[in-house]
Amino acid sequence: MRKNGKFWYKESPYKYHLLLDESPLWALMLYNERMIPRGLEKRMRDWALFLGTGASMGIPVIGCDCSVCRSPSPFNKRMRSSLLLSLSQKQFLIDVGPDFRLQALKHAIHHLDGLLLTHSHFDHIAGLDDLRIFCFRSKRPIPCALSEETLREVKTRYHYLIPEEREERLSSNQFDFHVFSGKEGSTTFEGVDLNYFSYSQKGIQVSGLRVKDFAYVIDILEYDPSIFKHLEGVRILVISGMTWKRTNAHIGIYEVIDFVEKVRCEQAYLTHMAHEVEHELANGKLPRGIQVAYDGLKLHLW
Ligand SMILES: [Zn+2]
Ligand SMILES: [Zn+2]
Repeated sequence: MRKNGKFWYKESPYKYHLLLDESPLWALMLYNERMIPRGLEKRMRDWALFLGTGASMGIPVIGCDCSVCRSPSPFNKRMRSSLLLSLSQKQFLIDVGPDFRLQALKHAIHHLDGLLLTHSHFDHIAGLDDLRIFCFRSKRPIPCALSEETLREVKTRYHYLIPEEREERLSSNQFDFHVFSGKEGSTTFEGVDLNYFSYSQKGIQVSGLRVKDFAYVIDILEYDPSIFKHLEGVRILVISGMTWKRTNAHIGIYEVIDFVEKVRCEQAYLTHMAHEVEHELANGKLPRGIQVAYDGLKLHLW
């Protein structure tokens, strides 16, 4: 729809979003980058695209006939959680789940400059094999940033991708591993300044990631209050909100709301949703500044 001379799209009965890409002026600027005014150029370059926003079983869940799994709304169809980041014209993938092949085909992902892994659960790394095509095409291993603990697990589960004889097994034909030093810190990964910090999920160490004022915190269960120090000044936060109440592996959305309040970010997006979270109902229930993400949602970062 068009309102106040701008193009908007309706995501739910409660919210309208400005759709920059549909404005003829922006389309023209995107078509011819030389027309982009200084200052705006940078803002348009970096974005985040939700490839999947579902919990480990995805939605619909196999064999489930609940109202969310049967919902015809595209907002209630969720592939396993993953995010594509475009930073300084490089493409980075956060987590590579079992739906990666379909996500790559859907969004025409033709190359990757780096992979960031948060932890080693199936729904976050099961697509590792599907990245082979990028190596075949670029003829170089994919840089992969991860914690030491996640690397250990990946090496065990994907031993055939990481041959034993390679020195320290930090590189293979497929991956060049960039291992985080310690549980928190900052590093430069493929030209991008990155902060990382840790929390845990049922005894497994998970890495939270931050680039400038954008942060990604997924599969969070137990955390030290010092996490908020790492999230100080974050403007956009993506955080997992699987179910309303806490489960044995995830804090619930009610707790996420408190967490977001402490971060004091401008906007938080929930991801990694299970089938008990209906998109529109959840958006209607959430306070200002928090909304449910959906597969295909693209955020312009800066
Ligand atoms: Zn997960
Ligand atoms: Zn269901």
